[in-house]
Amino acid sequence: MDMRQSLRLGRIAGIPVGIHWSVVAMVALIAWLLGAQIMPAMVPGTPTVAYWLTAVPGALLFVAALLAHELAHSFVARRKGVPVNSITLWALGGVSELGGEPPNARADLLIAIAGPATSLAAGAVFTAAAAAVRVTWGPHAPAAALLAFALLYWLAVMNVLLAVFNLLPGAPLDGGRVLRALLWMRHGDRVRAARTAARAGRVLAVAIIMFGLFELIGWREVGGLWLMLIGLFLMSAASSELMAQTAATALGRLRVRDVMTARPAIGAGWMSVSDFIDRVALPSTQNIFPVVGIDGALLGVVELAALGRVPPQSRPLTELRQIAIGVPPAYRAAPDDPAAPVLTRPPLARELAAVVLEEGRIIGLVTVSNLRQVIAREQLREPPVREIPAAGAADGAADRSR
Ligand SMILES: [Zn+2]
Repeated sequence: MDMRQSLRLGRIAGIPVGIHWSVVAMVALIAWLLGAQIMPAMVPGTPTVAYWLTAVPGALLFVAALLAHELAHSFVARRKGVPVNSITLWALGGVSELGGEPPNARADLLIAIAGPATSLAAGAVFTAAAAAVRVTWGPHAPAAALLAFALLYWLAVMNVLLAVFNLLPGAPLDGGRVLRALLWMRHGDRVRAARTAARAGRVLAVAIIMFGLFELIGWREVGGLWLMLIGLFLMSAASSELMAQTAATALGRLRVRDVMTARPAIGAGWMSVSDFIDRVALPSTQNIFPVVGIDGALLGVVELAALGRVPPQSRPLTELRQIAIGVPPAYRAAPDDPAAPVLTRPPLARELAAVVLEEGRIIGLVTVSNLRQVIAREQLREPPVREIPAAGAADGAADRSR
């Protein structure tokens, strides 16, 4: 499913919200189910137009509740310091695209639980509203009140079902995230916890597909097709999560020195920009250069784009240190540091993963191009076929080394 084909709805609290075209089909399907099937069954003998006047707002309220579920994930994520890039709704639910990983297991757990908790709360609100309608008008209510009661009751049930389904314990469902957070809390290894949750997601997906198949063949229920579709989607999402986590595990073995560009070209802070371009930047293949002071200490880095922004006539008069940007401690690494944290955080100036220092001297540079190379190389290694059946053993070994 291509999430980019989505319609921008606007921003809610600064978060861009979009809908995939499939949501339009979902709203139409739900409106049809409500207007042509559910409402006539729950409140028989009402004019057709009344069913549709209930069904259309009902379908929209359902989507609004779905959006509230996603917004809850996003708000909690933002409170925990994880940036939220966007929310996209599509036929099988919503996707909150986060711009980073949760800082700790507790935050992971809270972000995961926020969605289902909101759906449960929505279920409670709709239940209360349905009860209020029932109490106000009693059993001999006018048709409008009966329809409102039926709709609110249906919305309550749907939101509770949404919460329960999402809490099934397998990634990428919220229940899988909860499982990941709990395992992460227990043994302290986030990647291992995520892999277990992704494996649980595949088992869950197989179970859902089998159940759908059984429903379709055994009971001749077309709804089984829908379950099979959801199962297939879960299967592919869980498998790609498992692959990503396996790559992260592979990176886990690497040190900074294994992925860096050694002996990078370096600029001196007092050089003029024009000198630097001619003598260092043009002969080099680097996109970013460390800049040092007279004592050889790191002053900052300068990227090609920053050089280009200095107008040609002022290049001989501008010193390199004037356009260098500082390198925060997080972007300074030692050669024996593990590579994974360096490679998985957002790069500085879109290019720099780390300047590698040994006793204050610059000995290497880790850039985004290095990262691409590492990933390409890791993908050439043997596929993780061996790893899945031997998972228990591998996890046990990880435990002992701890
Ligand atoms: Zn959710």
